[in-house]
Amino acid sequence: MDIFQKCFEFKDAEIARQQGYYPYFIPFSGGDDTVMTYKGSSKIMIGSNNYLGLTHHPKVLAAAEKALKEYGTGRTGSRFLNGTLDIHEQFEAELATFTGKAAALIFSTGFLVNQGTIATLLNKKDAVIIDKLDHASIVDGCRLSEAKIYRYRHNDMKELKSILASLPRDSGKLVIVDGVFSMEGDIAPLPEICQLSKEFGARLMVDDAHSIGMLGPRGNGTAAHFGVTDQVDLIMGTFSKSFGAIGGFIAGDTPVIDYIKHHSRGLIFTASLPPAVVASTRAALEIIINEPERRQRLWDIGNYMRGEFQKMGYNTSTSETPVIPIVIGDNMKTFLFWKMLFNEGVYANAVIHPAVPNDSARLRTSYIATHTQEQLDFVLDKFKRIGKKLGVI
Ligand code: PMP
Repeated sequence: MDIFQKCFEFKDAEIARQQGYYPYFIPFSGGDDTVMTYKGSSKIMIGSNNYLGLTHHPKVLAAAEKALKEYGTGRTGSRFLNGTLDIHEQFEAELATFTGKAAALIFSTGFLVNQGTIATLLNKKDAVIIDKLDHASIVDGCRLSEAKIYRYRHNDMKELKSILASLPRDSGKLVIVDGVFSMEGDIAPLPEICQLSKEFGARLMVDDAHSIGMLGPRGNGTAAHFGVTDQVDLIMGTFSKSFGAIGGFIAGDTPVIDYIKHHSRGLIFTASLPPAVVASTRAALEIIINEPERRQRLWDIGNYMRGEFQKMGYNTSTSETPVIPIVIGDNMKTFLFWKMLFNEGVYANAVIHPAVPNDSARLRTSYIATHTQEQLDFVLDKFKRIGKKLGVI
């Protein structure tokens, strides 16, 4: 059997392209945080993770430019060898303070943080217990680790408890949850998860990819939001969302971070985060801490949009953050809705199985602190018209 056979038989994307409703890999030619350009026309962006609108902030851009001139485009090597800069280490110290942990370690993407942390800490004899809606990078890290994987229904604390109770008391256990779930826009009930992890002797890791910048008194994530930082063993974050760039970090106790630093293949066998990105994300961190009004605006926008969508009759699932899914159910109808929105000047994300459970295809909408009221009302008007036309509302 030719291993390429499945490729020759894969026609779904081509059929969708030919029929004109293919919603992926859209090549934007420019724009800023809230408006992108496609073939000369503007699209209001409600499909990014640029929650605080920092991708084009003058201080962030200036920091990147300065570092580019000072350090060049990249270190062309691993953090382990020639790839570590003074600014990597300075930033790690800042991230540790920010998250309330003793130490932090920067990776080149958030995906690598999860894969490279989980696969390093767990082995065949251990058990890893994850929410069914945890991010793919967590699942891949678990698979790579060869630990026994247990998945509980989304945010179902009864099931988490019964899984933990069924495991031998003295076995190695790690519970991993997203702080804010990227496709539902809801928050993990962290105080209960902390309590259960403690009761059954499990370590706890929280993926704060979407929570940093959004939750917590200083934008410092889910554990800080609930006041349980000391009960969470590991906090991961990405620079690809509120920080407006790419990269990620893991924060925790010093010996654990030092162990990961010396054993993680996702850190050691890939090149370090480029200096311009380190500098831009450091500048973004300063803004996250010092401009809480951005976070407030983001929440005000999220609450406004969810309220308006619900008034129109849309199903926004369990969303409670500025990440708001509009659940449509049927894949074809979702693609059609996406296309009509796009033609009307709005970009949202069309999400289908396996990224979300079967029959819950949706448009994932998410908001930016810099969206204007006019832009938001434009989006709502389009949703109202298209939703009615397609019989979704
Ligand atoms: N965790 C979660 C919850 C995510 O949503 C993502 C990205 N979508 C990642 C990890 C991976 O982050 P990155 O894009 O920085 O690789």
